[in-house]
Amino acid sequence: MTTADPTPAYPTDEARWAAIERRDRAADGAFFCGVRTTGVYCRPSCSGRPLRKNVAFYDTREAARAAGLRPCLRCRPDEPIETLSYGFGETPLGLALAATSETGLALLIMGWDRAEMREDLAARFPRARLVEDDAAAGPALAALVAAIDSGRPGDLTLPLALDERGTDLQRAVWKALRDIPAGTTASYAQVARAIGRPSAVRAVAQACGANPVAVLTPCHRVVRSDGGLSGYRWGVERKQALLAREAAA
Ligand SMILES: [Zn+2]
Repeated sequence: MTTADPTPAYPTDEARWAAIERRDRAADGAFFCGVRTTGVYCRPSCSGRPLRKNVAFYDTREAARAAGLRPCLRCRPDEPIETLSYGFGETPLGLALAATSETGLALLIMGWDRAEMREDLAARFPRARLVEDDAAAGPALAALVAAIDSGRPGDLTLPLALDERGTDLQRAVWKALRDIPAGTTASYAQVARAIGRPSAVRAVAQACGANPVAVLTPCHRVVRSDGGLSGYRWGVERKQALLAREAAA
């Protein structure tokens, strides 16, 4: 991945304007658009809605600044633009999406609808350039399928580096989840004790809900103190199915 990406996918003003109209997150970094009336320059995916006649295109931030424009406060075009590659795959428990950065697996989620899953991805990484690339997502999706198939999700050695984005507490929780043996469950209170924060049960529950790596970080093994399943971000039926597979394995 190069930093000065001369992406040839937007070679003409027409292609660039089309990218702006669809707020194409893959276009971020490929060029910048200046808005004469407001005096700012933006990423192509900015949520602002300028009129075509007021827009000019620049290959670089420097060119936009040289034209007297200042960076938009909404889309912050001067912040480094990170690229995430993502792709979809089918698993025994339905549709999944994996997104990887240069560091590792940044997101692995399940879902029902590709558009909704893309929205979840975009919301979690609001400043990233998102490029659909099923090949790049392949290893993570294969690991997910293998984990589900084995009935021992999470017992497999993680086949790829994780690039988890979270607070210290969240990361401690996600690590503690990976220590819950397959075939067993833990309560939120037990996880809170495991990370040395026994009173942080509510924050632990929130961290479980924010788990960015489905199944491989087995948040499905956390249940209510009374044994009730509690919720599951990707559908309680999937949680039930995962626990049943582990109990039978
Ligand atoms: Zn903007």
